[in-house]
Amino acid sequence: MAGILIYSDKEQYARELLSGARLLAAAAEIPITCVVINNAGMAESLSQSGAEVQHIENGQIVAADTAAIASALKQAVQKLEQSIILLSSDRRGKELAGRLAQALDAGCLTDVTGITCTNGAMQCSRNSLGGAAIAAQIITTPVKVIAVAPRTFEAVLEKEQGRVNKLEVDIKATLKVIETKPKAEDGIDIEAADVIVAVGQGLSGPEALPEIEALADAVGGVVACSKPVATDRKWLSEDRVIGLSGKKCKPSLAILLGISGQVQFTVGIRDARTIIAVNQDENAYAFHMCDYGWVGDLHEFAREFQALLKE
Ligand SMILES: Cc1cc2nc3c(=O)[nH]c(=O)nc-3n(C[C@H](O)[C@H](O)[C@H](O)COP(=O)(O)OP(=O)(O)OC[C@H]3O[C@@H](n4cnc5c(N)ncnc54)[C@H](O)[C@@H]3O)c2cc1C
Repeated sequence: MAGILIYSDKEQYARELLSGARLLAAAAEIPITCVVINNAGMAESLSQSGAEVQHIENGQIVAADTAAIASALKQAVQKLEQSIILLSSDRRGKELAGRLAQALDAGCLTDVTGITCTNGAMQCSRNSLGGAAIAAQIITTPVKVIAVAPRTFEAVLEKEQGRVNKLEVDIKATLKVIETKPKAEDGIDIEAADVIVAVGQGLSGPEALPEIEALADAVGGVVACSKPVATDRKWLSEDRVIGLSGKKCKPSLAILLGISGQVQFTVGIRDARTIIAVNQDENAYAFHMCDYGWVGDLHEFAREFQALLKE
């Protein structure tokens, strides 16, 4: 294996990939290179965490142009003779993974939730059958493109100093950005949250949300939800959805209120360190995957739990 190249436009994800790459590199003794595009601050910051950074500065590359980014990464992979490319499996990272793998004639896996390396052979874990099972998969091509789900690895800060090198690439922009507008979102990043209070359709209605926000504030967390709460009922934004078609979260504590615990939801929260489930149905699936369960009304729980915290 010639080397591991990592890339994400988000510094947090790049740091997580760096940690994962270090685990693999330790097993297979291969060098790691971190590519940063048009972001000198991020390049410097990653190098201060011990990363060997290749910084590409090129006015032809805009963040929305995944074709141009794939072309830049392809050139980086070939110039630096890399064989494993780790990307973040967020929306843009997944698109990039497909484009880059096609350009490199490489095998590709996205939504990877774990990587192990034994005797030089890499094996990736991915959810399958809607999250009901975990598949172990191996890419057999010499060059491998792997998009890793956020928070699969914990971002570790190394004290040693790395280096920032300049890398030249030749890009012909395929996309002209005329205008950029911030996405209409509420600014809450549930994937980054350490504590999550998630509500499901058991919530009486949107008028009860302030009570849930108050509980989330009391435990130092953020409010998230099951899919129907956002997509069908429109009580919260779709950025707050946990699950197969939402976000994969790995908080220290998750409090699930009025959520039945269907696999498409639980796949997004089952890696939480501690899970408390509250449901009035004692047979709810959520009780099969929680550490602590409360059978009863979620509104009553929200009030009593807050009162307990104040004692
Ligand atoms: C392809 C596909 C992808 C999907 N992706 C996702 C996804 O990413 N995320 C996701 O969440 N879902 C997803 N779903 C939908 C998923 O299958 C479930 O339908 C959904 O998770 C159910 O949401 P819920 O638990 O909020 O609602 P329900 O299943 O209706 O459960 C509500 C629960 O609240 C309890 N309850 C009611 N009142 C109270 C009360 N007062 N106090 C306490 N408990 C109460 C009930 O007993 C019940 O268990 C997907 C489905 C498909 C087919």
